[in-house]
Amino acid sequence: MKIKTRLTLLFTVLVASILLVFAGVIYWSSSQNREIEFYEELEKEAITKAKLFLEAKVKTNTLHRIYLNNSQIINEVEVAIYNSSFELLYHDDVEIDRVKETDEMLTSILKLNQLHFMQDDWQVIGMLYKYDGKDYIITATAFDEYGYTKLQNLFYTIIVLTIVSLLVIASLGTFFASRALMPIKKMISEVNKITATNLDLRLSNEQNKDELAALANTFNEMLNRLESSFDSQKQFVSNISHELRTPLAAIIAELDLALNKENEKEAYVQTIQNALADAKKLVKLSNSLLDFAKASYDPTEIVFKEVRIDEIILDACQKLQKSNSTYKFNFLIDESVEEEEMMIASVNPYLMEVALMNLLENACKYSDNHHGTVSLFNIRGRLVIKIADKGIGMSAEDIEKIFKPFYRGDNGKYLEGNGIGLSLTKKVVDLHKGTIAVTSQVNKGTEFVITL
Ligand code: ADP
Repeated sequence: MKIKTRLTLLFTVLVASILLVFAGVIYWSSSQNREIEFYEELEKEAITKAKLFLEAKVKTNTLHRIYLNNSQIINEVEVAIYNSSFELLYHDDVEIDRVKETDEMLTSILKLNQLHFMQDDWQVIGMLYKYDGKDYIITATAFDEYGYTKLQNLFYTIIVLTIVSLLVIASLGTFFASRALMPIKKMISEVNKITATNLDLRLSNEQNKDELAALANTFNEMLNRLESSFDSQKQFVSNISHELRTPLAAIIAELDLALNKENEKEAYVQTIQNALADAKKLVKLSNSLLDFAKASYDPTEIVFKEVRIDEIILDACQKLQKSNSTYKFNFLIDESVEEEEMMIASVNPYLMEVALMNLLENACKYSDNHHGTVSLFNIRGRLVIKIADKGIGMSAEDIEKIFKPFYRGDNGKYLEGNGIGLSLTKKVVDLHKGTIAVTSQVNKGTEFVITL
């Protein structure tokens, strides 16, 4: 069911319920009033007739004639008068005799002074009347045709008014609900226009401070994030293609050249060596990209193990030394790491090794002596790994950007690399809920600090 219909229905049901309760109370109180007023009427009629009969001594015949005459025009009150010995002194219409007075009834009127009750739709009043020191019991009954007709009219009026009001309320409800939901409708049509190709579109925001404006703002902010993430994805893909194209183009050009002219054996060897070096670069890039993808997984999908960080560092140093024999490392374990258990951390060993290898390789790559120093500390219960070099260092502008994928600083343009290493390292550290910080001075050296 649409919200508009639901709102209208809810509104109508709510107002209808209030209206019905309201109408019910009015009808009930009118019906109570009618009954009370008619009993008062009956009492007055009974007293008038008692006075005529007992005080004015009007003849029974005359009273009968008045009764009969009135009965033809209105619903005349039928009165009966008894003495205290329950003997009937006067009766308007003995033949019809609507109230069948019994001794019990007369006794209770005598006891209670007054009695009210209904006999079918006829209201009956019984009362004690004192005259000349004697007790008389009077009963009076009549059908309140006028009162009932008025009540019936009220009933019909209430029904008609309720139906008309409900129709008005339902149409007003529909009108206001669609007006209230208009901004949402507009929002839906605007959102429908936003596709992957025009992510720059935004929801119009009429500077209101209501919830819908807040929703539009939140949605726009989400679009901003999506757009920038889309842009960086596009940038990422174009960077990858660029990084792949350069060594591939070099391989093709060298192989083409070797095919096109007769060469000495040494020249062929050189060509093969060059092609091999470019192919190795490609393998390194694709491995880095694969690791990058792994480090971007949901942390719940990655296996963490309790391992000794010093062992991972040693493995990383060994692997790097194997790949480049000019690389040298110093490994220092600070006094703060008193026990072996302090070196144990919950990490993904493969990714942690990749991250440390990137930092260690950079330390050697960006320093003339190809020398890196790794130190392990325990600072306030947290394992801290410092990787330092006395190399070329980097500028403050570079420091700000080095963790972005494919960013290469001015200092490293002539050295081999693809700019993935540090962004991958940062991703891995983030995945381990750790932090990475860097301090560097041009021509003095660089220090990376990982806190786990
Ligand atoms: P790559 O080394 O392949 O260029 P990285 O992501 O590992 O990519 O590093 C990004 C940039 O950060 C490098 O191009 C370099 O400018 C700078 N950098 C990283 N480590 C160091 C370091 N130890 N000394 C100086 N510059 C560094």
